[in-house]
Amino acid sequence: MSIVSKIVSHLFGRGKSSDASSSPEGTPPHAKKEYTNLIAQYIPYFHLLTPSEKELFIQRTWLFRNNKSFHFVNMAAFDGVPVLISAAAVQMTFGLRDYRLGFFKDIYVMPDAYQYDLQSPPYIGHVSPQGIFISWKHFLQGYADSGDNVNVAIHEMAHALSYNNFVAVADTDWEFRDDFAKLPGLYGPEMNKLIVNKRSYLRPYAFTNPQEFWAVSVEAFFENPVGLKDNMPGLYAVIAEILNQDLQARHRINTTV
Ligand SMILES: [Zn+2]
Repeated sequence: MSIVSKIVSHLFGRGKSSDASSSPEGTPPHAKKEYTNLIAQYIPYFHLLTPSEKELFIQRTWLFRNNKSFHFVNMAAFDGVPVLISAAAVQMTFGLRDYRLGFFKDIYVMPDAYQYDLQSPPYIGHVSPQGIFISWKHFLQGYADSGDNVNVAIHEMAHALSYNNFVAVADTDWEFRDDFAKLPGLYGPEMNKLIVNKRSYLRPYAFTNPQEFWAVSVEAFFENPVGLKDNMPGLYAVIAEILNQDLQARHRINTTV
């Protein structure tokens, strides 16, 4: 049994992946406690929120979790997994009015990296019209190291958010689209800097294409907002505007009190 599996076995009771049938309007008290304990333990972002924001965060996580079908592929079902994956989505969309990623009904969880096709190296996550796919081992690793700018859940949720607003046009957020339009203007200049300087604050994968530039930038934004703002202030400002969150300011407040 891997260390990750041991952590999972220890912390999560085995359970079904079926959707809960409780009222969607409010979070039942037992779920509120369970969600709060889990999220406080695994998602550092939660500790940056005020008490009323924490209430909203838990409520959104409850609604998100109960509006998606979670599928466990080649692994046992654990109740905590859908809660934490939902919390990652809510973290990324917390500044937005529409946090539902409504186009996506299905989320698939694999125990580890998986083969998508024979030509590609193993994936740790991807988004397709069929759903959002995440390796649970890499989900945990993403949150265990909160300073390496790598977080697969945030990365895939960023893809899902742009897909939701541009390709699927399920519940288009026009303000999001207007703000997002500023991002391509940064991609070319940052690519040029990478060519000239042979390095970038973002990892090289960001420069695969504009969609990866977006997803990797959002990872860096949540993992180390101070680092992103110091190193790429223009990019930080655009991501903060798109997501309607000034995370660097929250970190500063929390580290000075
Ligand atoms: Zn990607």
